[in-house]
Amino acid sequence: MFRVKEYVKAGSLEEAYQLNQKKSNVLLGGMMWLKMGSNYKMTAIDLSGLGLDKIEETEEEFRIGCMCSLRQLEQHKGLNEYFGGVFKACTRHIVGTQFRNGATVGGSVFGRYGFSDILTCMMMLDTQVELYKGGIVSLEEFAKMPYNRDILVRVIIKKDGRKAAYVSQRPSKTDFPVIACGVAKKEDCWYVSIGARPGKAALVKLTAGESSLAEQAQAAAEQFAYGDNLRASGQYRKYLAGVYVRRLMEQLKGEEQK
Ligand SMILES: Cc1cc2nc3c(=O)[nH]c(=O)nc-3n(C[C@H](O)[C@H](O)[C@H](O)COP(=O)(O)OP(=O)(O)OC[C@H]3O[C@@H](n4cnc5c(N)ncnc54)[C@H](O)[C@@H]3O)c2cc1C
Repeated sequence: MFRVKEYVKAGSLEEAYQLNQKKSNVLLGGMMWLKMGSNYKMTAIDLSGLGLDKIEETEEEFRIGCMCSLRQLEQHKGLNEYFGGVFKACTRHIVGTQFRNGATVGGSVFGRYGFSDILTCMMMLDTQVELYKGGIVSLEEFAKMPYNRDILVRVIIKKDGRKAAYVSQRPSKTDFPVIACGVAKKEDCWYVSIGARPGKAALVKLTAGESSLAEQAQAAAEQFAYGDNLRASGQYRKYLAGVYVRRLMEQLKGEEQK
């Protein structure tokens, strides 16, 4: 069971940040992950009063507050229209609707979980995270950074004209993914993100060449490391990655030619 002694609804990010510098305190997202553990913490820091539960769309970008739920990503019209429905595709298999109403974008991205559909999906786009102290860094860089006690304030996704597609394979409908693949295309560049290898999502960029899509997909899939766990072997994951990346490339190519 996850237990806390005190609860503070932060009045500002500075207050939340100062409280969070103590190792015995903890920031709360939707608590869906935290409550699975058996930690005892002194102070739970709630960010829900800071207006960070909105997805704002401007001419240049989407700005997603850390307290937005996964359900908001799944249902946001602008995000899904602009990126070909990938936010619906990457969230719809995560447990169930009630769960997705609780789990937050901040908890999902800050956690940098290996199995994360959210990290995989956002990685193929031009995504940045805004950290309270660390400022704005690319998601690709953030995923490699060591854990610290900063606050992820929002995720920023640029409207840079990328077309995107996403798919995951799971042993059963709401289980963790065995492999998660995202492919985006802008002009002659492919952005390929693969997660649940079982390591966390990483990004590979390649220039669309003269070779067949199957060869390009294979070349992309070869650049990631795969491993074994309870759900699948690394060899199986690598095979799946090649197939899914090819299918996503074909889907994007097909849409381009319409
Ligand atoms: C049973 C189960 C199944 C799942 N299946 C999947 C799946 O198939 N695919 C998938 O992608 N995800 C899956 N998840 C993960 C889930 O989608 C969320 O990513 C996860 O629950 C964390 O989000 P949260 O809002 O619950 O965070 P919390 O549990 O509240 O917090 C998680 C961690 O992030 C920290 N944190 C929270 N918000 C911030 C912030 N703004 N800044 C800095 N640190 C912060 C917390 O202190 C904590 O350490 C699953 C989770 C569970 C429990």
